Amino acid sequence: MAFDFDLFVIGGGSGGVRAARRVGALGKKVGIAEESRYGGTCVIRGCVPKKLYVYASTFSESFEDAEGYGWSVGETSFDWPTLVANKETEITRLEGLYRKGLESNNVEVFDTRAELRGPNEVWLKNEDRIVTAERIVVAVGGTPNRHEDLEGHDLGIVSDAAFDLEKLPEKIIIAGGGYIAVEFAGIFNGLGVDTTLLYRGPEILRGFDDDVRQLLHAEYENRGIKIITDQVFAKIEKGEGDKRIAHLSGGDALEVDQVFFALGRVPLTDTLGLQYAGVKTDDQGYIEVNEYSRTNVESIWALGDVTNRVQLTPVAIHEAMCFVATEYRDDPQKPDHDLIATAVFSHPEIGTVGLTEEQAGKEYGRVEVYKAIFRPMKHTLSGRSDRMLMKLLVDAESQRVVGAH
Ligand code: NDP
Repeated sequence: MAFDFDLFVIGGGSGGVRAARRVGALGKKVGIAEESRYGGTCVIRGCVPKKLYVYASTFSESFEDAEGYGWSVGETSFDWPTLVANKETEITRLEGLYRKGLESNNVEVFDTRAELRGPNEVWLKNEDRIVTAERIVVAVGGTPNRHEDLEGHDLGIVSDAAFDLEKLPEKIIIAGGGYIAVEFAGIFNGLGVDTTLLYRGPEILRGFDDDVRQLLHAEYENRGIKIITDQVFAKIEKGEGDKRIAHLSGGDALEVDQVFFALGRVPLTDTLGLQYAGVKTDDQGYIEVNEYSRTNVESIWALGDVTNRVQLTPVAIHEAMCFVATEYRDDPQKPDHDLIATAVFSHPEIGTVGLTEEQAGKEYGRVEVYKAIFRPMKHTLSGRSDRMLMKLLVDAESQRVVGAH
């Protein structure tokens, strides 16, 4: 049977673009569809703008620190619209590079929503046309959890909108204790916003080493970020003008300019036409895949955040590379999800790989803990009281490092 394409990719983010580009480079006939902007979450509304905003937020401290080193900085001011506009220019440039990378590898690029219509059929919305492909990759990613079960949830924002707010809020409350909540709390605080973090559990950054969690908590409070634990929102109401009233489960109410939900992400599988092809999802809507990223349907694979594996850009890219090797280079490769190093762009930043002390204790009989907490040399002259933590966990018997934080 002749197909229109050897490979058709739905979703132009990190995983999808990498798969399309690499297979296109092998001389195969490849198509890709994206309904929003090429580059996906990481480039357009995730890692890239986030890092730019983190840089923006660190200047306030640097100006203060400079004095101890002999600099007089003078009066400073911050202009939010300038940052937003310059960020936009940069991601537009990157988006162009993604598109160029596809086109220069002979991938046919479609700017449209696409949905499955069968094991080898994809519907292109703009043209209302069905194309066929020998293999299909679904890499549509996810979207922030909008907390729709909360009364007044529509008065809040999620990370997608946070980058393009018309004006910088004076006061914000951010719900969540994971990557996005912690990173944005650091950004807004650094930009001078009165920032509160609201987390449902006893300590932020569940899953990270306890010493890391406690140190970051203390450092954030030193910087003036208020952290409320063991509470959630009871409801959100409209206040005067553009204000919002955030009612907390403990009974308090806070008047703020923005309520920000950073409560994890959900896969974009609802209306993808999975049922036409018979692709199975788990109870949270993630596409189920085997160790080669193949779905229960022979001709369909799923990569990145649309699967319930690890939601990180380099992981999606790795999964794409393994798919290409397995299916097009006769070199079967299973993505390796073990020992993934990760970074949180908080203030101070966190870098971590391997087991936490608690996990190491469970997995190994005896664990040696090497820990140093100190004031970074930079702050001897700046006068800042920031602390830095380094921690190594070593399996006592083999003397192997099993965790580094
Ligand atoms: P995370 O999974 O990191 O954190 C979600 C947070 O929301 C957790 O603290 C969780 O609490 C809390 N939560 C979830 N549901 C509820 C609820 N119903 N009510 C109250 N609290 C709730 O997700 P993020 O949204 O922060 O980020 C999404 C993903 O994006 C991350 O998992 C990460 O993989 C990726 N990412 C990576 C970055 C990086 O590499 N630097 C940066 C940003 C995102 P609990 O812990 O108790 O479950």
